[in-house]
Amino acid sequence: MTGVTVVDHPLVARHLSVLRDKVTPSGDFRRRLSDISMLLLFEALRDLRVREDAIETPLETTGGMRLADEIVVIAILRAGLGMTDGALRLIPEARVGHLGLYRDEESLQPVGYYESIPRHAADAEVVVVDPMLATGGSAVSALERLKRGGVQGRMRLVCLVAAPEGIAAVQEAHPEVPIFCAAIDRELDERGYIRPGLGDAGDRIFGTE
Ligand code: URA
Repeated sequence: MTGVTVVDHPLVARHLSVLRDKVTPSGDFRRRLSDISMLLLFEALRDLRVREDAIETPLETTGGMRLADEIVVIAILRAGLGMTDGALRLIPEARVGHLGLYRDEESLQPVGYYESIPRHAADAEVVVVDPMLATGGSAVSALERLKRGGVQGRMRLVCLVAAPEGIAAVQEAHPEVPIFCAAIDRELDERGYIRPGLGDAGDRIFGTE
């Protein structure tokens, strides 16, 4: 599918299987989500620009590199919080912003309740994280809010599981934003859950079921 990368790796597939399993306790779920997030972001950030930089080893000067751009990770609350720890382990220098969006249970539409976007995001490499790309409402709304907030650089959306409906919605509203995920699942059900999915990611991360 154009614009969508399903990260194809045995370790990603194994982590995802454990995350899908309903008997996985929330502590394991959090750890696995953090680990798989590192693998997904590793792939999503493959094309980061770098600058050459001289490094002094204990023995001599050699060529090194530094990242050319600021990296800003934007977590869509609340489930996106489950991916920020992995993102920061991968990119310790990243800055983190938060967008609070919840899904109205009846309309399934996103409702914004919190926004904290680092000022560095304007021309940074921005990675929006949210484990479940379901209807796509939250992701579309988050990307809109970032653009309205002045983000002009490249944005990417990294999720764990995507529904075809969510991918279509993001691609229609933000065709320039690439999507990275561990799997594209079959469908959304009438309650807006991804099938087969893994249930409510927020509840599974925070043990609030
Ligand atoms: N959000 C979730 O956490 N799970 C789904 O299946 C859909 C949306």
